[in-house]
Amino acid sequence: MWPISCIEKKRYGNALEKEEIKQLIKDYVNGTIPDYQMAAWLMAVCIQGMTYDETVALTMAMAESGKQVNLQSIEGIKVDKHSTGGIADTVTLICAPLAAAAGVPIAKMSGRGLGFTGGTIDKLESIPGFQTAISEEAFVKQVQEIGIAVIQQTEDIAVADKKLYALRDTTATVASLPLIASSIMSKKIAAGADRIVLDVKYGKGAFMATIEEAEELANTMISIGSRSGRKTAALLSPMDKPLGLGIGNSIEVDEAISVLGNTCHGRLYEAALQVTGLILYMGEVVATIEEGIEKAKRHIEDGSGLAKCKDWIAAQGGDTSWIGRRMLTKNEQEYTLYAPQSGYITDYDGRALGEIVMQMGAGRAKKEDTIDPYAGLWLQKEIGDFIAQDEPLAILYGKAHLPMEKLGEQIQTCIQIHKTKDEKEDVIKKMIL
Ligand code: URA
Repeated sequence: MWPISCIEKKRYGNALEKEEIKQLIKDYVNGTIPDYQMAAWLMAVCIQGMTYDETVALTMAMAESGKQVNLQSIEGIKVDKHSTGGIADTVTLICAPLAAAAGVPIAKMSGRGLGFTGGTIDKLESIPGFQTAISEEAFVKQVQEIGIAVIQQTEDIAVADKKLYALRDTTATVASLPLIASSIMSKKIAAGADRIVLDVKYGKGAFMATIEEAEELANTMISIGSRSGRKTAALLSPMDKPLGLGIGNSIEVDEAISVLGNTCHGRLYEAALQVTGLILYMGEVVATIEEGIEKAKRHIEDGSGLAKCKDWIAAQGGDTSWIGRRMLTKNEQEYTLYAPQSGYITDYDGRALGEIVMQMGAGRAKKEDTIDPYAGLWLQKEIGDFIAQDEPLAILYGKAHLPMEKLGEQIQTCIQIHKTKDEKEDVIKKMIL
């Protein structure tokens, strides 16, 4: 009996036909299949997995469950970039204007964050006036005119994924490779770009615990991309430590502006150059990734990346008067944490720092929660840097009610300072083309 036959089939580890998956998704979206039956099927998928053909069928059924954006009227190869989520990962805010400055049109839909800090949309909305909910027509026009626009993913994109993701979140069925791969790729395919660059994270702060799992997820998404006619490439990057030094929405915007302004050259800068290099290569404006990296570096040095970023912010109604003059971040309390001893910074516990910043109001536990866009912290040293006793270690920004001293003590426990420094770790471990 429908849909019990599908649940049973999966429960015994058998593969569903493409038509069955299509019908399952259709009936779930139109309400014929209730949440409890879908949850049973999802749990069976988590335990038994899915074949490659089933994963592709699920992706396409979800991509086709809502509107599919048409970007054909924008000249050039449109490249989309997606990160599976990390702490202090502000790469999009850097590589999007750099890619646009180099001639790759960026027409991107992004999400809000659930967890430690906000997503790209939350970060952009910390800029006064910045509009992320604009019509598709205005979105396309902006890309035609200035080569870049980043907006909220509209409600009508991959409708099935939205409904399924909410169910997965409450039924312990998020952590499944085929479900994650089809969820991400359905949104990317529906968003209309020609090519896709995926930054797949692994480690303590990520969905995938090991590089092997991340590689399997990346390969699955790459082959789904090529099956749907969207050439896809992936980067594998560790996510145990925060990528940048700023954690919190406006603080991450400040750090992105510093990277574009050529005053920050740490791990975030390195990652942003490599991701941009790959985007430029995928967008066919350079012949090799190395050439792309060099070009990105030049666009930081000559200021054209920052200029493109200002044009982008202004085009979406955002205030640019602070750029190059002062920090965007300003809060009721500013508290400096000092180093208790001298030595080299050997580790930051990204997950624990993320949890503290969330307590400070920078992230959401539930979708409905509001965030403080200006809450968070800015670490003052890169991993491997020497810090002298009593030098500033971190600056915390938060509302008046926050117990800054106590938070500072908690932050202290997330930072390792030792007499000798460790080997430098690559910010990107592997690229898969
Ligand atoms: N991100 C998504 O968009 N979907 C998942 O299932 C997991 C991460």
